Amino acid sequence: MSMPDIILAAEPTIRIIAFFAVLTAMALWEVAAPRRRRDIPRVVRWTNNIALVVLDTAILRLTFPILAVGLASMAEERGWGFLNNIEAPVWLAIVVSMLLLDLAIYLQHVMFHAVPGLWRLHRMHHADLDFDATTGLRFHPVEILASMGIKLAVVAALGPPAVAVLLFEVILNATALFNHANIDIPRPVDRVLRWIVVTPDMHRVHHSVDPRETNSNFGFNLPWWDRLLGTYVAQPAKGHTDMDIGIEQFRTRRDLWLDRMLIQPLRGPACGGALDTPSQHSRSSSVSSKYTKFDTDEIDQ
Ligand SMILES: [Zn+2]
Ligand SMILES: [Zn+2]
Repeated sequence: MSMPDIILAAEPTIRIIAFFAVLTAMALWEVAAPRRRRDIPRVVRWTNNIALVVLDTAILRLTFPILAVGLASMAEERGWGFLNNIEAPVWLAIVVSMLLLDLAIYLQHVMFHAVPGLWRLHRMHHADLDFDATTGLRFHPVEILASMGIKLAVVAALGPPAVAVLLFEVILNATALFNHANIDIPRPVDRVLRWIVVTPDMHRVHHSVDPRETNSNFGFNLPWWDRLLGTYVAQPAKGHTDMDIGIEQFRTRRDLWLDRMLIQPLRGPACGGALDTPSQHSRSSSVSSKYTKFDTDEIDQ
């Protein structure tokens, strides 16, 4: 068996073990050291968010005949893509591939905030009313399909080693669960850690109801793109325990159910995205200030 074949054969096992191990670890960590008080019972959000990820996985597998690791492996065998046509050491090809895939995901995330039609799909991720590990699984199936299309195009053009794509996807899954987790990381540790990886405190800013904060911190994995490209916001203005999570359009518990999540892209105007004017933003943040505050903890920057 060639190296790409071995990787392809082991892929489902590696993915499923990593997913359940990290999800379990985050769920336990959330119980042991929560960062914010929960407003919504776990059973409502977890049932619907996990049902959504099962649905997403099924739709993805039924739609695409080949996924990213499979395409990378085929490209390696047939000499497709930039990296399969130059002489580069394997370690360098792996590092470059993982960096460029991460940059592509960052740029795609910015685009999903900037283009109103794409924001309709992506805002469903932001409409979760609490922020925990299962929020990291909550993406509309059409966004999942669009992301895979973009990723396949990047893989076809770049020709990354299949092992780099597998590593990237497993790490991205793990970091998405980690950086959405409702966990309290000591502030000095967070300050150091957020130079290496996007931490929950850094990504929580992105889930603020204030559009100026929603449209910041787009990284899911590496924190560098936000710092380099000017989209980094260190902390939420109201502090982590007092900030409002979500978007202003969908704020009832009924909106957290799977059927409502699926039709959300079709409901209401596409406001709150990155291309709204500053006056639209200030209007929405004045609306957001009306929300009841449940949390009386001190603002902790
Ligand atoms: Zn986003
Ligand atoms: Zn998120």
